[in-house]
Amino acid sequence: IKGQYGKYYALYDDKLRSSLLHDQAIADSMEDALSGDQFQIYLQPKYRIIDGALAGAEALVRWEHPEWGVQSPANFIPLFEKNGFITKMDQYVWEKTCRVLQEWEDKGYPQIPVSVNVSRADIFNADLSCILQRSVKKYGLHPSRLHLEITESAYTETPSQIIDTVAHLREMGFVIEMDDFGSGYSSLNMLNNLPIDILKLDMQFIQSETAKPVSQGIMKFIISLARWMHLSVVAEGVETKEQLSRLEEAGCDYVQGYYFAKPMPCREFEKLLAEESVS
Ligand code: C2E
Ligand code: CA
Ligand code: CA
Ligand code: CA
Repeated sequence: IKGQYGKYYALYDDKLRSSLLHDQAIADSMEDALSGDQFQIYLQPKYRIIDGALAGAEALVRWEHPEWGVQSPANFIPLFEKNGFITKMDQYVWEKTCRVLQEWEDKGYPQIPVSVNVSRADIFNADLSCILQRSVKKYGLHPSRLHLEITESAYTETPSQIIDTVAHLREMGFVIEMDDFGSGYSSLNMLNNLPIDILKLDMQFIQSETAKPVSQGIMKFIISLARWMHLSVVAEGVETKEQLSRLEEAGCDYVQGYYFAKPMPCREFEKLLAEESVS
């Protein structure tokens, strides 16, 4: 029995060590990644349901590492949130997004907004509004071209001064989207007091055919409530035609998901924009 135990212990230990090595390797190379332009923006289109128009995009970061290849956020964002590097990386992503938006203006493409992700640590940064304002100003953009996706969980147990920060950003003209809505942290009552423009429904309500009648009922309910509060609703994680029809029926405004397109490099996204401008 002792031997057995030792075996499992060793296994656990190896796993732990390799995850620590993994974290260490990432921490060692993150500054180089920033200075070496290894963080790239991928864009995923959002469409308006009623007419199918291209209505926006979400910027999702990818780490194009010279040795490890393209890394998805799940491999590094949690660590960056722990060690604080997320604020630096996000600033970089926001600025890069603004540059892309300006390029589109120069090329005469339709002026759709792009959403960027704002993590909880970013909101606690006292300079947040200055940083965002500087980025849009630098590229001559109206703040409404940038939508800020703030995850629902960032609002919980958040001091009221943080809510004030978000309210201030909204007054400055940034459009606030509440990400992952319904993922379990908020109460509907919270919606009453929060400075937001758009609700982004959590994927669980849409995804998988395991979506139970109850989840579908909740989804419909949230969409009607949002409409009643004059909030727009975006559904993400739309993968099938059936899911799209259910959302349409429920009165959802915008959709995003693999059914339409996966996140893609900016150059590829430009082709969608170019098509949109001729049609
Ligand atoms: P999120 O903000 O909830 O983004 C949605 C995630 O769902 C993205 O994963 C996207 O690629 C994926 N997705 C889109 N359509 C579908 C679909 O139809 N089915 C499924 N199963 N998934 C779909 P991704 O790009 O791996 O990003 C994961 C998370 O990492 C994001 O979740 C966000 O929380 C975080 N993240 C990504 N980029 C950034 C960033 O620049 N800054 C910060 N702070 N967080 C980021
Ligand atoms: Ca998001
Ligand atoms: Ca989300
Ligand atoms: Ca999320």
